[in-house]
Amino acid sequence: MPKAQETVLEIDLKALKQNFEHLKSKLQPNTKFLAVVKAFAYGSDACEIANYLQGLNADYFAVAYIKEGITLRKAGITKPILVLHPQSVNFKALLDYNLEPSLYNTKILNEFIGFASAEKQTNYPIHIKFNTGLNRLGFSEHEVNSIVIKVKETVAVHVTSLFSHLAASEDLNEKEFSLNQIQTFKTIAEGFTNKIGYQPILHMCNTSGILNYPEAHFDMVRSGIGLYGFGNSVKENQHLTPIATLKTIISQIHTINKGDSVGYNRAYKSEGVLKTATLPIGHADGIGRPYGNGKGFVSINGQKAPIIGNVCMDMIMVNITNIECNEGDEVIVFGKHATAENLAASASTISYELITSISQRVKRLIIN
Ligand SMILES: *Cc1c(COP(=O)(O)O)cnc(C)c1O
Repeated sequence: MPKAQETVLEIDLKALKQNFEHLKSKLQPNTKFLAVVKAFAYGSDACEIANYLQGLNADYFAVAYIKEGITLRKAGITKPILVLHPQSVNFKALLDYNLEPSLYNTKILNEFIGFASAEKQTNYPIHIKFNTGLNRLGFSEHEVNSIVIKVKETVAVHVTSLFSHLAASEDLNEKEFSLNQIQTFKTIAEGFTNKIGYQPILHMCNTSGILNYPEAHFDMVRSGIGLYGFGNSVKENQHLTPIATLKTIISQIHTINKGDSVGYNRAYKSEGVLKTATLPIGHADGIGRPYGNGKGFVSINGQKAPIIGNVCMDMIMVNITNIECNEGDEVIVFGKHATAENLAASASTISYELITSISQRVKRLIIN
């Protein structure tokens, strides 16, 4: 890995391949793999990640919004792309770019069938989402009949898949609840398939579902966080490698005397003599204010340097009193050893939030 000369997010494709292969090793050979690349592939680089995974034969991709799907198509993704949360205002673009909508209530189902019919579509692939306990998006079990009737009335659409989402797949204290969700989904899928007269793809598991509920893999699984190197448990993390390393450098070192303050609002006041380093990364880059005032930390020459004072828009100051280092030295904010999961925990949040927050201002560097 090259030494950083500015703030940079390095993306390790070899680690991505290992994570992909590890997750695949948990599946039956014919279970399809859908790679979730929403939110810039969890803050990394959606086009690079999707292209690389397409090369490794990932079967499907998923994004949250239509705009994200268009970006992937323009970058050369030809595999099917599921849009998890399409907005009807963008249906024309969805059709133009051959993106596949998740439809989750009567309103959006009717809107899409109406739109696809007006556009003279036949057998346009749609995905029907069922709510089995998360209570976020999805049809209820009792709506199966009316969906099937509606779909059978038109030639415009074809139900490519039926799916649902687990609410607590990473939490084994909620195993009974998860098993209940799985059972409900099975019942829904059976009823739906019988009535519609063909077999859609069935899928339910996210990363922790893949790892904890092999009985719920069905025909396809949907993995996001695992690909990026986090398994939501100490045990599973051992088999996965974080693909992203956020690096920066030391811009300036200060000696702070007793009684001096550091940063805006004089939030830190020194009770002795200390050394600080100022780094070119701040809340506009994704290191939010909750990481300030001694909560968050970075690594310099393998040692932990806590953030002191308030996080600024473009900078943080860290305490380097006991660390041998110089202006220009490389700093690791998070990576394979000092992980994003640990840094996120320091501000009472989760890896998902920290990694998806790294703003587009930060340069991405792909390491192959
Ligand atoms: C984001 C998302 C996933 C991926 O979940 P991970 O925990 O990151 O593997 C899967 N399915 C749906 C519906 C999602 O919204």
